[in-house]
Amino acid sequence: MQVARQRSRTAAPRATAACLVAWPDTQAAVVRPLLAWYRRAGRDLPWRRSRDPYPIWVSEVMLQQTQVERVKEYFQHFLERFPTVADLAAADEATVLRYWEGLGYYRRARQLHAAAQQVVSVHAGVFPQTAAGLRTLPGIGRYTAGAIASIAYDQPEPIIEANSRRVLARLVGYDQPLGGSRGDEPLWQLARQVVPKRRAAGKFNQALMDVGAIICTPQQPRCEACPLATACLARQQDRVADIPNLPTTRPVREFRETALVLWHGGRLLVQQRQSGEWWEGLWDFPRQVPEGVVTSGRRRQVGAVNYTVTHHRVSCRVIAQTVSERPRSRRGQRWVQPSELAAMAMTAPGRRIASMLPPPPTAGTSGGTKAAARTAR
Ligand code: SF4
Repeated sequence: MQVARQRSRTAAPRATAACLVAWPDTQAAVVRPLLAWYRRAGRDLPWRRSRDPYPIWVSEVMLQQTQVERVKEYFQHFLERFPTVADLAAADEATVLRYWEGLGYYRRARQLHAAAQQVVSVHAGVFPQTAAGLRTLPGIGRYTAGAIASIAYDQPEPIIEANSRRVLARLVGYDQPLGGSRGDEPLWQLARQVVPKRRAAGKFNQALMDVGAIICTPQQPRCEACPLATACLARQQDRVADIPNLPTTRPVREFRETALVLWHGGRLLVQQRQSGEWWEGLWDFPRQVPEGVVTSGRRRQVGAVNYTVTHHRVSCRVIAQTVSERPRSRRGQRWVQPSELAAMAMTAPGRRIASMLPPPPTAGTSGGTKAAARTAR
């Protein structure tokens, strides 16, 4: 009875697999409740205190694949070092990567840097104001362009990311497989239909993401607190648990490996990850003794690091050993003082290994402290 009354009052849309038809009065059913909720309960995030496209862009790139709380720390640190797009453009890539270190997906940092240089060199330091113009910049795709255009310039551009996708799919009871540009296309169309055309497009998009992040969560949505509860078809039809229809995640694969801390005369060897490897361009400890390097003394385990990268879970033991002979450094190799590591952009396991380094070995020992070391098998 209650559901029937809700349906007639809100005139919910007809949601079919092929076509997502907008409500007869989208403003009343979706836009106004969402904006009213956002004014009251939207998240206060550092990048929302400005309409400047530069911090909005930086935050959007950081937020891809990274939790909001983690991004908050990085965002502030990054903006202190690169306060304007011109500052970012003028920096060298190694410095940008150092400030990105820990966020992962370093290709995004490189593209951010390249895009900043393009904004400066091609657009005189001024961001394009349309989604189409923004998409000419490296690394800016459909979502990021829509986010910047709507939030910074109030352009009526839609956005679809994990949170807004889930909310919209549930809102219209869309249970078809999602994922990829093809799977998500119907929701992009829906988002374009519902985003306000005259003003508040940015607030609307941010409200959608916030509802997805804090109310319409994947496992335990709090429908009773949702500003869209009256309009929501998945709720009315008791299908919330079945929507969205997402592809199953890839299984995690387990790996074991060994990282080598090779000492020579108070210096240790680090290698730069190459193209095609995880963390391309970042520095790490070698996983095998490089050609021409002659080791001496016992191998000693000085610790272990476990880390996850993409869908791999890696157990890495850390072995220290002295080097009696080393050839000239090759490209992508450096023998450095431990103190130099702080300024280098390192992989996540590399940084953790650097933080556990024992003092350099003295002659005749293999590099581990007595307390920490045990003989490696
Ligand atoms: S009513 Fe429930 S399922 Fe529907 S959008 Fe709100 S939280 Fe999500």
